[in-house]
Amino acid sequence: MNVLGVDIGGSNSVVAVADQSGSIFTHKQILTPNVLGPNLNIDMILTAACQIIQETGKSIDAIGIGCGGPLDRRTGTLHKVANLPSWDGICLTEIFEDITGAPAFLDNDATAAAMGEAAFGSGKGLANFVYLTVSTGIGGGIIINGKPYRGHGENAGEIGHTKIIPDGPPCKCGDRGCLETLASGTAIARIAKEGLADNPDSILNDALNERDGLTARSVSVAAKKRDIYANKIWSDAMYHLGLGVANVVNILNPELVVIGGGVASAGEMLFKPVTEVVNQRAMKALADDVKIAPSHHGDLIGVMGAIAVALEGMQG
Ligand SMILES: [Zn+2]
Repeated sequence: MNVLGVDIGGSNSVVAVADQSGSIFTHKQILTPNVLGPNLNIDMILTAACQIIQETGKSIDAIGIGCGGPLDRRTGTLHKVANLPSWDGICLTEIFEDITGAPAFLDNDATAAAMGEAAFGSGKGLANFVYLTVSTGIGGGIIINGKPYRGHGENAGEIGHTKIIPDGPPCKCGDRGCLETLASGTAIARIAKEGLADNPDSILNDALNERDGLTARSVSVAAKKRDIYANKIWSDAMYHLGLGVANVVNILNPELVVIGGGVASAGEMLFKPVTEVVNQRAMKALADDVKIAPSHHGDLIGVMGAIAVALEGMQG
């Protein structure tokens, strides 16, 4: 059995063809900036998917799609996704089924990534763990007793919208002070830009002229070079992220919290301060119980999750 995995993100998307053990034959990354809108982005993702299916020569038995929530897994439809506002009401499963003729299954991208970790990654064999993606937004996937926890309306795990500062920055969800407004890649870049005029000596001013502009990565790189302003922005973001993880640890008592997504590629610059905050702020017995670690699958964990969604869908 072969499956197509589709990981749809607010900035990048990835498609991959894999077998039933999760081994990827080939994959392709596509830039899918939100400004292009859903039609153009979906066209580019479909084109890339068709290309890799043709390249591998495999017949596809099922398709798994991971996308930010909220969404309706049963109908395969997106509902007011915070990071993809113009995609509201789009039925992704129908689009992919029409093109490939194979059954398609949709799931929240972070829940999918947690399923990917459970099936093929560091969550293998663990009963209780959490996957946190820190990229354009912040999403969470929860595994309880070896199974994804979806909640009453199947949209559980919105860890990015837990409240960190009561009257903090406005969030796309309509509230304020959510973790996502303080520690996502988008937030780190926004906060850095807001104070840049008052910090003319910061090397972050140079990043404005780079091809991608000032990003969260620019902040982590400048912080590593001991730029005082960048270090303050990065430290604050990691403190807030640590508080978010400490809340998750206190509520769920997981054995492992895997942190993935573009911001997690900063490595120890993220894992060291976040672990320190969890150790200081979560309850001791629970903090002592948890390991906080990167995904072994790096950038591919999203699409590995989509592959796990396809395989689970086939099992009914
Ligand atoms: Zn929010």
